[in-house]
Amino acid sequence: AVVSIDGERVPPERAVVSVFDRGFLYGDSVYEVLRTYGGRAFEGEEHLSRLARSAERIGLALPWPRERLSAEVARVVAASRPAGPDEEPPAPDAAPWNVGERTVRLVVTRGSGELGLDPALAADPKVILLALPLQAPPLAAYRQGVGAVIVGETAVGRPREPSAKTGAHLAHVLALRQARAAGAHEALTVDRDGFVTEGASSNVFLVQGGAVTTPPLDAGLLPGVTRAVVLALAREAGLTVREARPRPEALAGADELFLTSTAREILPVTRLGDRPVGSGAPGEVTRLLHRRFRARADAFARG
Ligand code: PMP
Repeated sequence: AVVSIDGERVPPERAVVSVFDRGFLYGDSVYEVLRTYGGRAFEGEEHLSRLARSAERIGLALPWPRERLSAEVARVVAASRPAGPDEEPPAPDAAPWNVGERTVRLVVTRGSGELGLDPALAADPKVILLALPLQAPPLAAYRQGVGAVIVGETAVGRPREPSAKTGAHLAHVLALRQARAAGAHEALTVDRDGFVTEGASSNVFLVQGGAVTTPPLDAGLLPGVTRAVVLALAREAGLTVREARPRPEALAGADELFLTSTAREILPVTRLGDRPVGSGAPGEVTRLLHRRFRARADAFARG
């Protein structure tokens, strides 16, 4: 891993933050997770815009201007490529387009100070970047699809500011814990009104009769960068696209279901709970959209 703290490269084993850091104590931080194609951060501007919006929502003044954040992302990626001799070789079952690519995690915490919730106690916000080998699903997950379960927010709690990407992730952790206990890849949460919102770390789409539906941004979810790319690709493909809040029954009865996220791109969901989705195999529309997504990412990788 390549780590930078406040613009200084730090060896990973010495990359530590204070026990007084509010990101650690209260989840009082914002962050982004980017990925590379061909060694370049994909949708970098979109991720930095979302970081700025997240920071604004929680009243955190980003300590660096956007250009410096952008340059630092490029710098840690360059420092982590090509793979060093101590890096594990790519998993034999990795999707070929992911081999050699990087994840960049960019975290800004409100900083540290005397103990206490009051954000006015915080001084010296910290900017932390990590560049790591990309962690993404194996090729088999794209070919066969993955399982998901539906989890009620009443059981795991509601993220405080769902539209901001903050370090306060306990509700998502608990939702994913339930999914893993059921042997599933992802947890899809249902809000108090009984509508499906998003995954623990993904957005969700369903396909019914050829039309593509995903919950709208005002449903209380993270505006996924991948979600926006996929909506644009679906419209370009001439598909009917709806932003509407589905009930769990609509997911259970869908022809196709898929997740979107930066690392996963478009990942078919072929089991919901203990039942198959549609035919039980990745559907036609999901595969069409993923082909188009791959073409866009490949074009980006070539520059
Ligand atoms: N929802 C949540 C709660 C997430 O944490 C993520 C991952 N950032 C997503 C959706 C997907 O967003 P993106 O496509 O920007 O990775």
